[in-house]
Amino acid sequence: MNQTTHVLIVEDLPTDAELTEHEARKVLPDCKFLRVETREDFLAALASFRPDLIISDYKLPQFDGLSALKLALEHAPETPFIIVTGSMNEDTAVECMKAGAWDYVIKEHIKRLGPAIMRAREQQRLRARQRVDELERERLMTAIEQVGETIIITDPASVIQYVNPAFEKVTLYTRAEALGAKPSLCKSGRQDQAFYRELWGSISSGKAWEGRMVNKRKDGTLYTEEAAISPVRDAAGKITNYVAVKKDITAQLQLEDQLQQAHKMEAVGLLAGGVAHDFNNILTAIISYADLLHNGLPADSAQRADAREILTAAGRAAALTRQLLAFSRRQILAPRVLDLNKIAADMTSMLRRLLGENVELKTNLAPQPCLVKVDPGQLEQVLLNLAVNARDAMPKGGAITLETAALPATEDPLAAHPGLPRGPLVRLRVSDTGTGMTKEVRKRVFEPFFTTKGKDQGTGLGLATVFGIVKQSGGEIEVSSEPGAGTVFTVYLPGAEAEPQPEQSGPKPAAAAKGTETILLVEDDETLRRLGERILKESGYKVLTACNGASALAELEHLGKPVDLLVTDVVMPGITGRELALEAARRKLAQKTLYMSGYTDGAIVNHGVLEPGLAFIYKPFSVEAFAAKLREVLNGPASQAKP
Ligand code: ADP
Ligand code: MG
Repeated sequence: MNQTTHVLIVEDLPTDAELTEHEARKVLPDCKFLRVETREDFLAALASFRPDLIISDYKLPQFDGLSALKLALEHAPETPFIIVTGSMNEDTAVECMKAGAWDYVIKEHIKRLGPAIMRAREQQRLRARQRVDELERERLMTAIEQVGETIIITDPASVIQYVNPAFEKVTLYTRAEALGAKPSLCKSGRQDQAFYRELWGSISSGKAWEGRMVNKRKDGTLYTEEAAISPVRDAAGKITNYVAVKKDITAQLQLEDQLQQAHKMEAVGLLAGGVAHDFNNILTAIISYADLLHNGLPADSAQRADAREILTAAGRAAALTRQLLAFSRRQILAPRVLDLNKIAADMTSMLRRLLGENVELKTNLAPQPCLVKVDPGQLEQVLLNLAVNARDAMPKGGAITLETAALPATEDPLAAHPGLPRGPLVRLRVSDTGTGMTKEVRKRVFEPFFTTKGKDQGTGLGLATVFGIVKQSGGEIEVSSEPGAGTVFTVYLPGAEAEPQPEQSGPKPAAAAKGTETILLVEDDETLRRLGERILKESGYKVLTACNGASALAELEHLGKPVDLLVTDVVMPGITGRELALEAARRKLAQKTLYMSGYTDGAIVNHGVLEPGLAFIYKPFSVEAFAAKLREVLNGPASQAKP
């Protein structure tokens, strides 16, 4: 960087200028001079000559050193300005320095110009460094003041010396409140002494510490933050400060928690659904064989009562599986558009009886209709389960309030439940004045088999069922409760438009009639297949059986004429029941189809609703119900037993 130094000389006497040049050259070997003596020339030179150094006489005929200095400070403040004069006394020197001159030299001692130039140059370098440092500091400061992370700087005794605006936003303490305090200002009591000992031990020995802690805001609420705390050392290696950079991760944790909870419910639902499916097959066999046993015994046999006990127990097991299916959203629903107000009003007298005299039932129903498209039986189940729980939470009596509301398309519940559809919603609220619950209980209430009630008092399936029904109906449920402060369950359901109600189908054929038609029974479960075959044969039908779709098709082809009815399981390995029925119909091998399943399945059920025109029997079923369903399908139109 050996550039030519431009030296601007303000001087009216050329001989004096030469002297100046001579002295300057001694310290600046490579330099270029320009001499000016008027204000105009000086200004022009500042712009075009761009001096690196200005050496000015104090008094000139048309101009003067102080004016030149003023102009230089204005237009080239970073350029060193040295005054050289023959007549300078102490006062003038002070005046010049005060006005901003970098140095002054008296002409008699012109030899001092060289060192003065060197000093000025050194000073210039220092000032430039300072400016860079300042800029850098400013940039750093702006960044620290604007980052989202909380930054705290303390002295070695951990007294707070600096906090950034993010600190104020997170902790709700002002900077003034924090300065001079210690970080324990935000202590929540959630970490024990050992935790802080470890932290302090680490940073005071010079190591950085990273971790999570729960702290308390000024308003008393807790928050979790991820912190990195490091010691700051001076050049000698002594710790002068500690700096903590922290991030409030409360919202993020809540979201993760919610997601985890949802995943857990999903996984448990899958498990429960699978268990219920297999159970339904087993229960169908138990119920049907007990039926057969019962019906086969002479009317006066004492063992008839035993068979009835089996049936009662199996019935209880079937009810349990139904609840599990409800929770896992695997039920087959028969949704209709109906007014929630009407259902609630219709149920009040039944609920009053159920709740007993100690519990008051209040209703607060919306003045306008609250139309929803749901399975009415399921909705009643929701109300019933919520009411029974409320009653259980009020052993000494209290009040339950049933509330409905038609919400216009609002953003409010959508924020908490992004899964809800846009558009109008209907809200159902069941609140009680009971014991309420702790946060730990509140988090788990919807889990199947979670109960705080004693043995034989709770199954822990009530709210799991409610949860499944609400979800399967496209809605959301939330609970708010504190110990001793009662409980509020809020259900949101998608609002519906009124629609014409389909005609209710006529009365079902009462007793099981016998038949002579040919039926192909396809079932992969061997026990059920043998059982079905037996029931069908005893009812007079001609029966073919197959254990899977492929052999069913072969069987049908072999028969040479279409069967009157294909009865098939839905969920089978290989070809599903639906695929089999469609293929059989395409080849004109079966006239009608009856599906059996204990489980909703995408093949014939869409979002829990059976496709229209399909005939279906739900497992587990009794011998009587199966025989009756067969007659209903065989006697009915083909349009109601499509493949
Ligand atoms: P169960 O009633 O068989 O225990 P639920 O699934 O219906 O099963 O409820 C699970 C648990 O949720 C209950 O055991 C109880 O601790 C809690 N709970 C449900 N509803 C309320 C309520 N209204 N007030 C207080 N606690 C409730
Ligand atoms: Mg319950």
